[in-house]
Amino acid sequence: MVVFSGAGISTESGIPDFRGPDGIWKKIRPTTIQEYIASKEVRQRQWAGKKASYKQMHSAEPNKGHLAVAKFYRAGRLLGVVTQNIDGLHQSSGVPPEAVVELHGSTLFVKCLSCRYRENASVILDQMGESNDPPDCPQCGGMLKSGTISFGENLDPLDLDRAEELSNTCDLYLVLGSSLVVSPANMFPVMAKKAGAKLIIINNEPTPLDELADLVIHEAIGEVLPPAIHSAVS
Ligand code: NAD
Repeated sequence: MVVFSGAGISTESGIPDFRGPDGIWKKIRPTTIQEYIASKEVRQRQWAGKKASYKQMHSAEPNKGHLAVAKFYRAGRLLGVVTQNIDGLHQSSGVPPEAVVELHGSTLFVKCLSCRYRENASVILDQMGESNDPPDCPQCGGMLKSGTISFGENLDPLDLDRAEELSNTCDLYLVLGSSLVVSPANMFPVMAKKAGAKLIIINNEPTPLDELADLVIHEAIGEVLPPAIHSAVS
């Protein structure tokens, strides 16, 4: 099995999703990478936002859904997780980092847009203190940015390759908590289905891929997944 997860698996850890009924995009407009690069004011706003969201994500704990997925991994039945999430909760629930593809990066680190410098977000945020002035790369002086992928920013080709390999080599593809409207991430469940996998979608709301799926469950992940995985591995 391969798990493909979205923001919906983490709402039960207290992290809001983007497009569910209480989603973030109902309140704010997303910023593109082009806007980030062009405007110091936008960057200041983004760093102020990162300080607030980092605290929330850093203190979040894996929930029953993440733990059920990790249990499946320990039982040797899970090839890996392809996630759109940026919160690191699959890893903290016990799935090893090398088995998780973070298609949209991670909020737990900061990257330079000009060189390969990466640092833990906590180190950079501590250095910033109370200031929201955008920090520069200590190696090359370039622009630092959250380790997440912004709108208009390319996904890492290595992550795309790994996600493609996982999606083409499993016989069961389990989608957990994704609206499946974000491209190119939403091509992976289609790819898995074309490669012969059964497709299961567990999501509170309908998705555009429901018709393609072999089984669709419109219920909360924390309710449905733990008993299903328990009976599958015991
Ligand atoms: P999304 O917000 O577009 O969709 C989430 C879906 O999950 C919604 O359809 C919602 O109804 C459903 N959902 C919410 N709670 C659920 C639950 N307990 N059980 C079952 N379904 C539930 O999220 P997406 O598809 O991942 O795509 C949007 C983007 O959101 C991604 O790029 C991702 O990087 C980003 N994001 C990540 C986090 C995070 O890391 N936790 C949080 C917010 C947004």
